[in-house]
Amino acid sequence: MRTLAPSRPPPLTCPLPPDFATPAGTAAPEPPVTQIAKAVDKQQRRVRHGMVKERARILVVGGGYVGMYTALRLQQKLKHELKRGAVDITVVTPDPYMTYQPFLPEAAAGSISPRHVVVPLRRVLDRCHIVVGEVTSIDHTKRSATLTTLATEEEGSGWDHISYDELVLAPGSISRTLPIPGLAEYGIGFKTVEEAIGLRNHVIEQMDIASSTRDPAIRDAALTFVFVGGGYAGVEALGELEDMARYATRYYHNVQPEDMRWVLVEASDRILPEVGAEMGRYTVTELRRRNIQVLLGTRLESCAGRVAVLSDGQRLPTRTLVWTAGVKPHPLLASTDLPLTERGRLACTAQLTVDGAEHAWAAGDAAAVPDVTAAELGSLTAPNAQHAVRQAQVLGDNIVHSLRGEPLETYAHSYVGSVASLGLHKGVAQVYGRRLKGYPAWFMHRVYHLSRVPTFNRKARVLAEWTLSGLFKREIVSLGSLEHPRAEFELAAGGKPHHNPSDDSKGSS
Ligand SMILES: Cc1cc2nc3c(=O)[nH]c(=O)nc-3n(C[C@H](O)[C@H](O)[C@H](O)COP(=O)(O)OP(=O)(O)OC[C@H]3O[C@@H](n4cnc5c(N)ncnc54)[C@H](O)[C@@H]3O)c2cc1C
Repeated sequence: MRTLAPSRPPPLTCPLPPDFATPAGTAAPEPPVTQIAKAVDKQQRRVRHGMVKERARILVVGGGYVGMYTALRLQQKLKHELKRGAVDITVVTPDPYMTYQPFLPEAAAGSISPRHVVVPLRRVLDRCHIVVGEVTSIDHTKRSATLTTLATEEEGSGWDHISYDELVLAPGSISRTLPIPGLAEYGIGFKTVEEAIGLRNHVIEQMDIASSTRDPAIRDAALTFVFVGGGYAGVEALGELEDMARYATRYYHNVQPEDMRWVLVEASDRILPEVGAEMGRYTVTELRRRNIQVLLGTRLESCAGRVAVLSDGQRLPTRTLVWTAGVKPHPLLASTDLPLTERGRLACTAQLTVDGAEHAWAAGDAAAVPDVTAAELGSLTAPNAQHAVRQAQVLGDNIVHSLRGEPLETYAHSYVGSVASLGLHKGVAQVYGRRLKGYPAWFMHRVYHLSRVPTFNRKARVLAEWTLSGLFKREIVSLGSLEHPRAEFELAAGGKPHHNPSDDSKGSS
């Protein structure tokens, strides 16, 4: 561990803002009672006359929907305080960009390039400190978080500490997996832009393998694509990739659309619950019409040895197993002293404070927020982007209210419905009770997400890409080699190309 003293030479990567840094390894000691009294007094002075009087250090954990939109809101509302140094905002996040996840299926299909699915945080949050790293634990009683960064890894120092006055905890969720044999080795997730692009490359690569092998068993396995989980991530990813692969077959002399086998495995008796029961049934019919096998009430029992074994007894040799069977709260939450619900989300109030913990705030997938608009008592808001974006705005406003000693707002938003794309010109939607299918739903999906994707810059780029792809043929190239950029030079230099274990899991050759 190391000390972040102001006098030490600047580290190679972004240093923590000095006011946030506590000496490493010295988790701030419990302050004596007199200091606590002074702190309370300081806090009161801070909010007197509706102005943030003294320095408030706001730590935002996570740079996704909630993290980015909250920091953006704070940046706008506390413009003057930031200018005169009364407020510091630090965002700690593993990637220097926010991922607009609803665009991942289109990125996988090649309709949007990966760079336009992400929003660069340093540019959008130009008045915040962006620290690329991962918070590993939080001691909120001591207002201290532990984190690792690229620098701590490079220096071998392990971790840093960061102190704060206000905490926004928004690390989102991770894939909910089950102890299924072979899943960790062969499963592919679909939550990040890297996974989406990796999957696109992988699917095209499988078509190349099928096209060139003489072994029918290898060909069949290469052309079998199994998706587990019928929520919008799984259905949209499958719908877009099948559509792309079907299109790509016209450039393969020996792969026809009917040679491919696309399978959707769903444990419950319906898919796409987000668009309602009727539109869910329509989606099943539509996918089956496209020769996609939709297996309801079916579970994956094993995928060891690259054979998907299903609960209905089917055994499907496959080199592609995509796991999109829901999400669970981020494990970081369990490494804090903040209250959690039975399901592991942060117990929150409708004002987006963490219940019973002062100066701790949360929203999005990580937070169990009471849905005050629901008829049923005890309902929580669903983990989706629709709530995450709106909660972030209320959260940002409430931090400002709190700093200024003003009353807090209550988060109230009733779910308006969902839109989902099932491939180019195909979609399904239920918005304000209105049901749409086919082209109108797909068009609505595009209009809605174009209006939602952050920044004018991204909107313009995405629109330009959609327009161009309407004028020209679709891209069907696999750039899987980008994942191993040094391989060719290593070979030329007489070295052994670096073996990437993920190749095995993806089944690429
Ligand atoms: C493929 C896909 C499609 C989707 N489509 C839709 C849709 O159409 N409509 C809809 O409403 N919702 C959709 N969603 C869900 C929606 O994207 C999420 O509900 C939303 O992203 C939640 O926002 P969040 O800020 O809580 O989490 P995220 O946006 O996931 O952000 C979490 C952030 O925390 C960071 N982080 C993680 N660990 C740490 C750590 N230890 N320290 C610091 N930072 C950390 C992550 O890197 C990330 O930046 C989709 C999700 C997926 C995966």
